Amino acid sequence: MSTTEVTTLKNVVGGEIVDATTGEFEDVLDPATEEVVARSPLGGPADVARAVDAAAGAARAWGRTTPKDRATAIVALADALDAHEQELADLESRDAGKPRGAALEEVQSCSDHLRFFAGAARALNGQAAGEYSEDHTSIIRREPLGVVGQITPWNYPLAMAMWKIGPALAGGNTIVLKPSELTPLTTVRLAEIANDILPPGVLNVITGHGTPVGSGIVDDRRIRLVSLTGSVATGKRIAAAASERLAIAHLELGGKAPVVVLDDADVDKVVEGIRVGGLYNAGQDCTAGCRVIATPGVYDRLVEALVPAFESLVVGEPLSSDDIELGPVISAGQRDKVLGFVDRAADGGAEVLTGGSGVGERGFFVAPTLIAGPAQDSEIVQREVFGPVVSIQRAADAEQALEWANDTVYGLASSVWTRDVGAAMRFSRELNFGCVWVNDHMPYLSEMPHGGFGESGYGKDLSVYSLEEYTRVKHVMVRLD
Ligand code: NAD
Repeated sequence: MSTTEVTTLKNVVGGEIVDATTGEFEDVLDPATEEVVARSPLGGPADVARAVDAAAGAARAWGRTTPKDRATAIVALADALDAHEQELADLESRDAGKPRGAALEEVQSCSDHLRFFAGAARALNGQAAGEYSEDHTSIIRREPLGVVGQITPWNYPLAMAMWKIGPALAGGNTIVLKPSELTPLTTVRLAEIANDILPPGVLNVITGHGTPVGSGIVDDRRIRLVSLTGSVATGKRIAAAASERLAIAHLELGGKAPVVVLDDADVDKVVEGIRVGGLYNAGQDCTAGCRVIATPGVYDRLVEALVPAFESLVVGEPLSSDDIELGPVISAGQRDKVLGFVDRAADGGAEVLTGGSGVGERGFFVAPTLIAGPAQDSEIVQREVFGPVVSIQRAADAEQALEWANDTVYGLASSVWTRDVGAAMRFSRELNFGCVWVNDHMPYLSEMPHGGFGESGYGKDLSVYSLEEYTRVKHVMVRLD
């Protein structure tokens, strides 16, 4: 696939690079230029059936490989990603509007995830085997689930695919994966690369829309686990559909991460933390620190420092310069949605301190936006915006800051900024989120779990916890006499 011309994408099914059975395509746009970068196959029910056939056909043999053999294949895939890292990063920049440095870092993180799961595949442990009754030996077997379905969003197309593929392969499962219809390029390229490494049918990538392709994956009885990274609305739909046949749903959904700043925080570090952690990927991040709650002793200093920090961000077409820090949001619809949130916040009495508009003549750009003083029950505080928009509220004290932080349906990520160790530990205990950062916001690691509480979903990505989700536990009991 070239990075300079319009590419016609294919699907990868059963070791073959094929067109969708429908023969239909749709255009994929570069959100920075609005130019067509690819034509993507619009799959239908027959494509789902063909991919699940292939994955089911490969499941037995792949599930019986030794951890060592699986690890060897996963490391080979990581090496191949490294060899293609610049090509993949350029594709990701064009397809998802990512600044070049960020795109390259994301691709590099993908091969690190794979290497982690290659190692973890060989180190899964469990309860000791032994005689729990006098005349029987009990053994715990950890087994693959079989065929898993994986559905990814547009904000981190390759990384979200890798968070899912790594543990699934390591656990001995075969995969049918559908990328977002808005950003299929890197996932398709990954599947082409993997096709020379993995046995046919182990990783199948099919493109198309949530319905019929995503929903078809969820409804196929041969798929035992469906993993979605996406919106809460899609997560609820998938959980309901999966429950019809008692398939496992693994859901990484939206977020509305609070950034709690206490009086004694280091303001320079907080500002840098929000500039990055609130606006990275144009704020299209489920862990984005988009809801700052500051106590009175720091609020004014923080607001004063945040405005120039937001205005200093270099906004522009990612491929035009290595200096670009903030690219576009993914689509015209997303830009309009984001600006709608800002307008309604202003109508509701909040103050737009900077930003609040589109940027430039072409592309779906939104200026970095800071909104002060929204009410706790307002839409801008309660709902995920998914754009470069951060709100800041003044809490009466640390107690109210904690109360507001936890007053949300989401529960994915949060941070607290303070020099007081006791306060940091108290907030770590009390914040009702799957991740609490102390004096930072957003770093993540292959070794540590990522996943939410509440309407942010359930099931973990990354770490050995995700590998556990992709295996099942079987008890074997052997009579001794
Ligand atoms: P989305 O829910 O619109 O789409 C996600 C994927 O689901 C796409 O591939 C889409 O085609 C598919 N889909 C849509 N309807 C479906 C259906 N009925 N059945 C099966 N599949 C269906 O989400 P999006 O707009 O692409 O991504 C943004 C969302 O993802 C945000 O809410 C963000 O917070 C969330 N997200 C969460 C995490 C996390 O780790 N928790 C990470 C990244 C993004």
